[in-house]
Amino acid sequence: MNTLFWFRRDLRLFSNEALIEALNNGAKKAIFFICEKQWQQHNAAPIQIDLLKRRLNYISEQLAQYAIELHIIDAPYFADCESALLSFCDKHQVEHVIANKEYELNEVNRDAQILTKCDEKNITFTLYEGDVIAPVGTVKNQSNEMYKVFTPFKKQWLKQYQDTHFSLLPWPLKKLAEGKNNSPVLKCDGSSEKWPVDDDSLATIVDNFICDKLSSYDDQRDIPSIKGTSGLSPYLALGIISPKQLLVNIQNRYPDILTTSKSKTFTWINELIWREFYRHLIAQFPKLSRGDNFNEKYNSVTWRKNEADFKAWCEGKTGYPLVDAAMRQLVQTGWMHNRLRMVVASFLTKHLLINWREGESFFMQHLIDGDLASNNGGWQWAASTGCDAQPYFRVFNPITQSERFDPNGKFIRKYLPELEKVPDKHIHFPHAYLASIGGDKHCYWPAIVDHKAARERAIAAFKV
Ligand code: FAD
Repeated sequence: MNTLFWFRRDLRLFSNEALIEALNNGAKKAIFFICEKQWQQHNAAPIQIDLLKRRLNYISEQLAQYAIELHIIDAPYFADCESALLSFCDKHQVEHVIANKEYELNEVNRDAQILTKCDEKNITFTLYEGDVIAPVGTVKNQSNEMYKVFTPFKKQWLKQYQDTHFSLLPWPLKKLAEGKNNSPVLKCDGSSEKWPVDDDSLATIVDNFICDKLSSYDDQRDIPSIKGTSGLSPYLALGIISPKQLLVNIQNRYPDILTTSKSKTFTWINELIWREFYRHLIAQFPKLSRGDNFNEKYNSVTWRKNEADFKAWCEGKTGYPLVDAAMRQLVQTGWMHNRLRMVVASFLTKHLLINWREGESFFMQHLIDGDLASNNGGWQWAASTGCDAQPYFRVFNPITQSERFDPNGKFIRKYLPELEKVPDKHIHFPHAYLASIGGDKHCYWPAIVDHKAARERAIAAFKV
């Protein structure tokens, strides 16, 4: 059967079982659809699109070394993929299309329509699950339903996989002496350049993390001034690295990792399972892709519409240094530390009582790792509207969070150089200190809300 591989957010060669299956079936061609308009509708950040294009250029070169042609085709909206795919299949007599599943609603609808059309044309369309370790719908409770709490989901996930020693399928092709790449090179704006896209550099990043950081992750992961987390989220979001590949690498070094869930080294695996949890949720609750609250109980919360407050949050001008430094990290680098994502999301939805959907969109527009399932999960967790979310009466205090996780203000000073000379003990809320030294009033923004009053307002709004 003449087989075609369709790349999506699975931009990798060697740990891509669906691709390997296609190659084993004799595939010589692959496609990728550039859906610029659709991506805009999904709020994809320019920095993420740049990373995607750079990686496409890279894998196109790699595929050419195995005599596989990558065809990169413009299909502005998902709706355009159908005719583009069918005319490609027609032109190249393709009888079988293989791809990896995506779980968001628009993607699922696109695939359902394409499946129907393929059936009509006698083309087989097969979808694999390369973005998760546990295929969605396979981790269920005794009533055969999706868990609505993370811990039992994790326990069941571990029960299913604790005896598995993961491995990758062998790569089936030999390199040509001279591969010729005829694909046009995609223009990139270079905004993502700090993030390498070649497999050698990525292997080094993964190895360094596993060898040097995995065991200290538990102690360091909450300190934003330390590079204590893996920084792999942009690669996982675009499928440049697969979660399974990471587990294989970890098990090579820590063979018992899945049976030692109480150990500190396990903590990082926990995060990978959170990622799976949110993917399983988005696949099983399409309302999440539509922007609905997971917990309908909170549909009656009245969010404030306040452009000025939202703008202050976006621009890092709330007068709460940790919040402001975090928002500047996001806007300047396209990435934000997890602890800070929780703090700023809580600040927007509780202190400012602004709809979590506004924050969710702003994050997507700027994050290099923007990913609907995890982003929606994170925002609804912080806003208390989500599945297994933070209870509404727990409102992070941005000053104590700052004292705990950035005690010397190292992170704050990096992104708020205007506070460089403020002593450590005042850095977390410097207003009284700045007034006492009679400093320039304009050197830092006044606090836009009072913590205690804002907290009470949020709790009252959620109680209603
Ligand atoms: P590490 O700590 O090294 O974790 C390893 C991997 O596990 C991450 O790369 C990520 O794929 C996954 N992971 C870690 N924490 C979570 C989590 N809480 N939920 C789901 N997966 C997780 N992550 C995204 O990938 N894309 C997003 O758009 C996104 N938006 C978020 C929004 C909010 C409000 C919050 C609170 C969290 C969000 N996260 C998102 C989760 C998390 O903040 C990032 O995955 C993490 O900061 C990425 O850094 P890292 O790769 O160094 O993570």
